[in-house]
This record gives sequence, C-alpha cells and structure tokens, in this order.
Amino acid sequence: MARLNNGDDGADGRPSAPYLRLAYVRGQTMKHSGLTGPFPLTFEGIEDAVKGGSPGVYALGSKDLQGRFAIMSLGRSDADIKERLRECIGAGTHFKFDYFQSEREAFERECELFHDIRPPGNFVHPGRPKGTTLRCPRCRIFGQQP
Ligand SMILES: [Zn+2]
Repeated sequence: MARLNNGDDGADGRPSAPYLRLAYVRGQTMKHSGLTGPFPLTFEGIEDAVKGGSPGVYALGSKDLQGRFAIMSLGRSDADIKERLRECIGAGTHFKFDYFQSEREAFERECELFHDIRPPGNFVHPGRPKGTTLRCPRCRIFGQQP
C-alpha cells in the first residue's frame, strides 16, 4: 500500500519527449506558431490588422470546427508584409503574421517555422532574401560559409 506513490514510475520517463512531439506534430498543423492572429484573409481583415512597410512572416490557413487555426502555408515579405498579404487573398480563409525589423530576422523566423511546422503547402525550403548570403538557422541547405 505504501508504494502507491511510485505507481507511475517509468510510465512517464520520456526525456526525449520534444522529439516525439515533433514527430507527432509532423503531418498535422496545430503546432503553435507564435504569430499574431488569426485574422480574416480579406481586404478589410488585412486593412484592420496589418501596418504596411515592414518585413514580415505570415501563415495562411483556416479555422477548424473548434476555432483553432490550421496552417496551410507560410510566406514572407522582405519589404512589405501588408502588400504581400493582399496578394494572398483567396489562398485561405484566415492568416496570422508578425513584423520583423529586418529581412534577416524575417527570413530566420520563416525558416524556423518551416522546419517546425512543415506546412502542407510549402514544398520547398524558404528562399533567401534577394542579394543576401544568409543561411538557414536549422539546416545546411544553403551550405557552410568558409
Ligand atoms: Zn532550413
């Protein structure tokens, strides 16, 4: 009877849980992105939620029956997230986004989300901002600098 408190020992000993969770999350899209939203992916929705003129990262998707946002695809603008989102109207019902101070920060965040979430609509790795030699913080797709 005195051993009851030890009853769960071992059952939950999973120090590698983050790996398991990542594997589990792959293939579905409920992982928390840290982006702001969701907002309706309409001209008015963008107008209300987004300021122009900044680099940014966005996720397009839809809400499920529980009201949770399911990400279909990710994208980025190196110059104006608002203008870019306007071009995406029709590619989902809702969007989330975040601003960044620089194209480098936006690029690195997009890379991290790409690797974490593996959105079904992103078949290729995010590209680098034009004219830069930035590298992905998560993989070596762009090679190692000497
Ligand atoms: Zn990468």
